[in-house]
Amino acid sequence: MIAQADVVVIGGGVHGASAAYHLARARKQVALIEKRTIASASSGASGGIIRCHYSNPAMVRLAHRAAERWPALAAELGAPVDYVNNGLIVAVAGAADAAHLERAVRMQQRAGVATQVIAPEEIRAWIPEFATEGLALAAHEADAGYADPYSASMAFASKARALGAQVYTETTVTGITVIGSHVTGVETDRGAIRTSTVVNCAGAWAARIAAMAGIDLPVSPGLLQMVAFQPAYEGWTRQSPTWLDLSTMTYCRPDASGAMLAGGGVAENAAIDVTDVDPDAVPPRPPVEFEAEIHENVVRRCPWAERSARLRAWSGPDGNSPDFHLIFGPVPGLAGYLQIVGGSGNSFKLAPATGEALAEYVTTGTSTYLDPHAFSVTRFADGRPFRGGYQMHIIG
Ligand SMILES: Cc1cc2nc3c(=O)[nH]c(=O)nc-3n(C[C@H](O)[C@H](O)[C@H](O)COP(=O)(O)OP(=O)(O)OC[C@H]3O[C@@H](n4cnc5c(N)ncnc54)[C@H](O)[C@@H]3O)c2cc1C
Repeated sequence: MIAQADVVVIGGGVHGASAAYHLARARKQVALIEKRTIASASSGASGGIIRCHYSNPAMVRLAHRAAERWPALAAELGAPVDYVNNGLIVAVAGAADAAHLERAVRMQQRAGVATQVIAPEEIRAWIPEFATEGLALAAHEADAGYADPYSASMAFASKARALGAQVYTETTVTGITVIGSHVTGVETDRGAIRTSTVVNCAGAWAARIAAMAGIDLPVSPGLLQMVAFQPAYEGWTRQSPTWLDLSTMTYCRPDASGAMLAGGGVAENAAIDVTDVDPDAVPPRPPVEFEAEIHENVVRRCPWAERSARLRAWSGPDGNSPDFHLIFGPVPGLAGYLQIVGGSGNSFKLAPATGEALAEYVTTGTSTYLDPHAFSVTRFADGRPFRGGYQMHIIG
């Protein structure tokens, strides 16, 4: 291993890989350390949905910056990310969620997002025969899309390597050296690297990495699951919009083959605060009850999916912060420690913007599209957490 680096990034998920790429692009000498393989945890299991529909301006601004970059990312990185601009529908039931949707769309429009409020029946302009029973209101976001999370993570890591970053997989970080109030190095099972800057991008393991530097980080491992169906229906294609039905807390998007990839559900959201997940022992597939609930919720809106074939189902861990929003940047009292953590089941889409912000923060001490104050870990102690407006608060 190299003996010294300007920056050591811990974790080869999409945020660590993006951080390594953007730092290398800023001419920093970077080492990216991943204990298994690139995208072997949350980023490999992700739904890959890219949207700007959030409830807080700082989050919309960050998601919008990322959404702007996704269409050209494959060309920039010289490798496929399988981005598709298919649009997004958010459908809500009940007066409280409908009122919040209207407020959220107005705020997103002010931020430059191409989104509009629509009547539930208008969803059929994009998804034929979409059943709207019980829905009060909906929104359509034209520039939303999806990408392949594994390809995107690999593309960031490959380009980082091409720009001179050292990428070490099958290498576990075992310690962070601190002298006084300064980070001085990182220890791994393959040797030590001297550095003045470490970036924690360890997803569901983020609190364990932070503890190595003496930091008590409020990020807990969580578990998310998805299931894929193959509908025999010509009205559903790889361009069909992602839909999010807040009445059943279920989301569904197409993939490149025209399958339906779906997740969420009432049971999963009810268990979202469970913190005893072991990220090293995630069950490879969800329980049958999850698959049955999601299938029922999908058929409720897309009756033509009733006889679809079930293709596969999978699970993945993620690091949840107390308000289910990203945590970015430094911690008070320790120089040289930065983090992109707490993705909370919704941060894949942000990766082009988080890596960019990290590199900008390292080189200039601030960032253009990410508000370091809003995303700081100090927001919890200061009593200014993000507050999602929907009953399904994990969507932000
Ligand atoms: C089923 C599912 C569906 C999702 N759907 C969406 C979606 O549609 N849209 C969206 O935006 N987000 C979605 N997400 C969330 C999103 O995928 C995650 O927030 C994001 O991928 C987190 O990336 P990360 O780089 O922080 O973490 P990870 O990808 O988990 O990477 C962390 C890495 O750190 C490594 N690591 C841990 N400890 C060490 C150590 N000691 N030494 C070295 N390496 C270490 C791990 O091996 C791991 O590879 C979903 C997540 C899941 C699980």
